[in-house]
Amino acid sequence: MVFWGLLNRGYALYDRSVREAQGVTFALVRGGGRKQLFLSERLSEFSGEVLPEGGFLCPLLVENAFALQRLFPSLSPRRLPEGASFGFGDRLGLATPGHIRAISSANVFPVLAQQSVRENARTGRTFEEVLAQAIFGIFQEGYEGGFGADADHLKRIGDALHAADIGYTFFTCDPGDYVVAAERLSLQEVQRQFALLPEADDFRREYLGRTFEIDGIGSLAFSEEELIRAAVKYGNAVDFADKLYHALTVRLPQGFDYEVSVDETETPTTPLEHLFVAHELLRRGVDFVSLAPRFVGAMEKGVDWRGDLEAFRRELRAHAAIARTVGSYRLSLHSGSDKFTLYPFLAKETRGLWHVKTAGTSYLVALEVAAHRAPVLFREIAQFSVEQFAKDRASYHISADPSLIPSLEGLSDDELPALVAQHHSRQVLHVGFGSVLKSPLGNELKKLLVEYEDDYSEVLATHLGRHLQGLGIAASP
Ligand SMILES: [Zn+2]
Repeated sequence: MVFWGLLNRGYALYDRSVREAQGVTFALVRGGGRKQLFLSERLSEFSGEVLPEGGFLCPLLVENAFALQRLFPSLSPRRLPEGASFGFGDRLGLATPGHIRAISSANVFPVLAQQSVRENARTGRTFEEVLAQAIFGIFQEGYEGGFGADADHLKRIGDALHAADIGYTFFTCDPGDYVVAAERLSLQEVQRQFALLPEADDFRREYLGRTFEIDGIGSLAFSEEELIRAAVKYGNAVDFADKLYHALTVRLPQGFDYEVSVDETETPTTPLEHLFVAHELLRRGVDFVSLAPRFVGAMEKGVDWRGDLEAFRRELRAHAAIARTVGSYRLSLHSGSDKFTLYPFLAKETRGLWHVKTAGTSYLVALEVAAHRAPVLFREIAQFSVEQFAKDRASYHISADPSLIPSLEGLSDDELPALVAQHHSRQVLHVGFGSVLKSPLGNELKKLLVEYEDDYSEVLATHLGRHLQGLGIAASP
């Protein structure tokens, strides 16, 4: 058998990865603390080294992932099928095997490559690397069930086109920079800004004196002030989403999945504002599959939602009704990790037409593994995250107070895992990912996760499995 030489040298084989193409056997192997791609013969599209005992060993480089993808079609991202979908962001590039295990008994389409431009900037990664690492994870698990690739929170057309060129299928437009907090402005000021909008007359004709029948909640109509405020708040954002969409249609005439997300803005999106945004997008021919409003309450990274649950349910019901009446797009829940309170409502009110995005939680699970397996490293990471917090918290919705974190010196090793769970330390650790992954600690953490790979996949599958159970698409254990 083709692997003898390597196995004799102490390499381990990922059994599920073994497959053939063009008469060559491919497999992922692990040795010397890292994973590599083994080919039974050299192929010119791959770069690597010829082994003295036969075969060809390739580092997990972007170009090798894309070469692999050309031989095995199941490694190419594809568009979302009907129904629910779940985004499994992976800050480290090592979480995909655990993510695949999480969905093994769940009825949901996974987006396995999903990072935003901002997160990539913080970790020093590229869209290519994010996709390549997902491809190797998928290959490792022998998964052939299909997956999406989401270029998340796009704020520039150039970034979207670049992601399109390398095979991304899902594009999340973030027009947040164009959203105006109109509710904070006087009526006089919004009237002034409204008059400056090129489509002002158009908006009046389209909305005033018109009622919109919305399935399940009755009719909605805009008063003049409501229209003016909605248009000032989201008018320019819609223009940007329109522009980005149409740039993508030129680059990807075969089609793509498009999401518009305004979740990271200062103020919640009211149902009426949602109606305005969706109606405007559709009027301009923007065919979107998913929309992320800014929901009410505290939607913070990595911790459960807090707020007035009755208000949330009422608004969610209206948002969901609008989504299925005006179009038939998913409601998207961003910062969706650990929102256990919300999942049952989201599943029920949207009648299964939802998209949830998670990302940072796979990093927190990695830290949980470190807390158990490498307390010294974990202490260094925690200490460094606290030091970097003032800088790292920028642009994230969080409420952590680092002064409420117990001092590390006073904690025994057994008490460290609790820091990953506790509200304040969890958020500080959560937003520290960029600083940590760019520092030498990042490499140590990754090495640890390769060493304790099964631990990491196991805990990920359990933790994200709880999300899927809450959403009603996976059986409880
Ligand atoms: Zn978001």
